[in-house]
Amino acid sequence: MNSRGGSALPSSVFEERLARVQQAMAARDVDVVMLSVGHDLPYLTGYHAMPLERLTMLVVPREGIATLVIPRLEEPRVAPHPTVFATAPWNETDDPIALTASLAKGARRVAIGDQLWARFLVELLPHMPNVDWIRAVDVVGPLRRVKKAAEIAALQRAGAAADRVASQLHAGDIPLIGRTEAQVSADISQRLLDEGHDVVNFAIVAAGDNAASPHHHPGSRVIRAGEIVLCDFGGTMADYCSDITRCVFLGEPPADVRDAYAVLKEAQAASVASAVVGATCESVDAAARDIIAAAGYGEYFVHRTGHGIGMEAHEDPYIVSGNTEPLEAGHAFSIEPGIYIPGRFGMRLEDIVVATADGPLPMNAVSHDLVVLA
Ligand code: ZN
Ligand code: ZN
Ligand code: ZN
Repeated sequence: MNSRGGSALPSSVFEERLARVQQAMAARDVDVVMLSVGHDLPYLTGYHAMPLERLTMLVVPREGIATLVIPRLEEPRVAPHPTVFATAPWNETDDPIALTASLAKGARRVAIGDQLWARFLVELLPHMPNVDWIRAVDVVGPLRRVKKAAEIAALQRAGAAADRVASQLHAGDIPLIGRTEAQVSADISQRLLDEGHDVVNFAIVAAGDNAASPHHHPGSRVIRAGEIVLCDFGGTMADYCSDITRCVFLGEPPADVRDAYAVLKEAQAASVASAVVGATCESVDAAARDIIAAAGYGEYFVHRTGHGIGMEAHEDPYIVSGNTEPLEAGHAFSIEPGIYIPGRFGMRLEDIVVATADGPLPMNAVSHDLVVLA
């Protein structure tokens, strides 16, 4: 969520997105799209709905402008784009479910957002008994995953801000030894805000054997000399996300850590280089995985190589075996292979990359080395 309710983008951006969604609706024989909390709503309207028990729902017809069903008390936060949507505010004693259903009267096939609370769908079902329901991700997702120039520029600015924090980590400006993981996580979070992010989405700090758990929750563990420290952090800046992972070693790394890191660095670079337009998502995963497996660490690389990124920290396309979707110019995603040896150490190296006609364009440029901090 953004700290602002509305978006600074001009109506023309949302008009163009609405037109593309309606084309996709026609192509998929969808009569109505319904969007609530989640990022399809701000993508189409600039408005971020708060995740409340009061229903907010954008009802998009196949033709004409959309209608935003919204609690009246939230309406002042909506930046109006009257060529894109009208608002239908409801009072505390009104029935927003009946209102929503009436806006979709006669619809046979309705696409509904993934993040809508289940209670609202359960309440809608009896109002709309003959509807064929599908997921809105099938309609809006293919549009959202291809980033336009302004969106790529926003990802670049967020990436550069995250890079500045990673540079501070590499320079030793973020004290580590003697502090808890949680303290360092809070420090990194503040630095992400200081560098321009509106919100922090996560700041994983994992020391020593804790780093063998990919999504370790930073806790009271005190960081000591002689350990690897994995830092994976990102936030949202002007509606677009950053996400970066870098590792440092506190002292001289032992040979096993050094060897594994050399493999990881080679695998990550090979995967980035393979991310050209037309390459399949699974081939980009394989480019990293093959190198890690050939070096004998295959069983320790326990997750997919990456995820799409944009307004959401994790979205399509996923860089994973089995995803045969070819990369298109404008696809934005992470490349973040890791090696996790339980009880010993873990490491991951992550950049955000955009596929372009001129080849893979990384959003992160900070050093990929295992930086040694004394
Ligand atoms: Zn993750
Ligand atoms: Zn990450
Ligand atoms: Zn990531």
